[in-house]
Amino acid sequence: MELNKGLIMRSTGSWYEVRSESGKVFAGRLKGKFKLKGPKTSNPIAVGDHVMYAVEDAANETVVIEEILPRTNYIIRKSVHKTAQGQLMAANVDQAIFVMTLKSPKTSLGFLDRFLVTAEAFRIPVQIVFNKMDLLSEEEQDQVFEYAGLYQELGYGILFTSIPANQGVEEFKAIFQNKVSLLAGHSGVGKSSLMNLVAPGLQIKTKEISDFAQKGVHTTTYSTMWEMNPGTYLIDSPGINEMGVFEMEKAELAHYFPEMRALLGDCKFNNCLHLSEPACAVRKAVEEGDIATSRYLSYLSIFDNEDNRR
Ligand code: GDP
Ligand code: ZN
Repeated sequence: MELNKGLIMRSTGSWYEVRSESGKVFAGRLKGKFKLKGPKTSNPIAVGDHVMYAVEDAANETVVIEEILPRTNYIIRKSVHKTAQGQLMAANVDQAIFVMTLKSPKTSLGFLDRFLVTAEAFRIPVQIVFNKMDLLSEEEQDQVFEYAGLYQELGYGILFTSIPANQGVEEFKAIFQNKVSLLAGHSGVGKSSLMNLVAPGLQIKTKEISDFAQKGVHTTTYSTMWEMNPGTYLIDSPGINEMGVFEMEKAELAHYFPEMRALLGDCKFNNCLHLSEPACAVRKAVEEGDIATSRYLSYLSIFDNEDNRR
C-alpha cells in the first residue's frame, strides 16, 4: 500500500486528524499492531507529529497511520495521578510564546522561571511577550525593561506589546511565521486578544480549560493545531501552564538554568547541588551578582517542591 506523509492536527483519543502535504484532511486511526518507539505515555501520538499513513477508504476519507516519524522534541504532561502515565501533549514544537503581564494580572518571575525550566528540559526555545504595557507607570515600565534585560541576556526572545496602544502587534505576528508555536501564560494576560488581532478566526480555548484545571477537575484534554497561514502553525494546548517537568532529577535542575549550566564544571564537587556545598561556583556567581538573585530563588523553590505551582 502506498504511504503518504501527514501532519497530526488534532487528536480525540482514538481518532486523529491527519493533514496531507497538499492540505487535505483525513480522519486517521492507528494501525492495529502499532509498534510504539517513543516514550511510554497514555497516548502514542500527539499534535505536531509527522506520520506516514495509507488511505483506507477514499470515499470516507479515512486513513491508517502506519508510522510516526522521528521527533525533534515533545512535551509530556504529568498525570495528576502519580502512578498513571504522562500525556503526550505536542511534538516538533519550534518555540513557545509566553505572554505575561506585570499587573492585571501579575505574572510572577517564579512562574516564568518554572515555565522556562520546563521549556529548557523539553528543548523548546521561548519568546517572552510583556503585554499590557499601556497599564504601566513609567517606573513599572522600567521594571519590565530590567526584567527583559535579564531574560534577553539568558538567550530568550523579548517583545513588549499593548493592544490599546497598538504596540508590538506586528512584531507579535511576525514571530509566528513559518514555525510551529505553542502559546502559554496565565489566564487574563491577553493571549486570546492578541491572537484575535494577528489570526482572526482561530478558536483558541486556552482560557476555559485552564479555569477548568484550576477547579481540579480531572479531564483528559487534547491539544489542537491551527494553521495560521501555510507553514505557520499554532498549537493550542490547554493546561500547558501546569505541565511541570516529567520525572526530572533534582541533580539535573541546574542544567535548565542557562546561566548555571555554563558554570557547572567549576563547582568543587561534581555532584554539587548548589545549596550549601563549599566552593560552589553557582553560589559564588549569585553573591557576585553574575546570577540574578530572583533566578537563584526560583532554582531553590523548584528544587524544594517540584509540584509547587505558582
Ligand atoms: P487570555 O486569558 O490570556 O486569553 O486573556 P484575554 O485575551 O481574554 O484578555 C483578558 C483581558 O485583558 C481582556 O479584557 C482584554 O481586553 C484585556 N487586554 C488584553 N490585552 C490588553 C492590553 O494590551 N492592554 C490592556 N489594557 N488590556 C488588555
Ligand atoms: Zn555548585
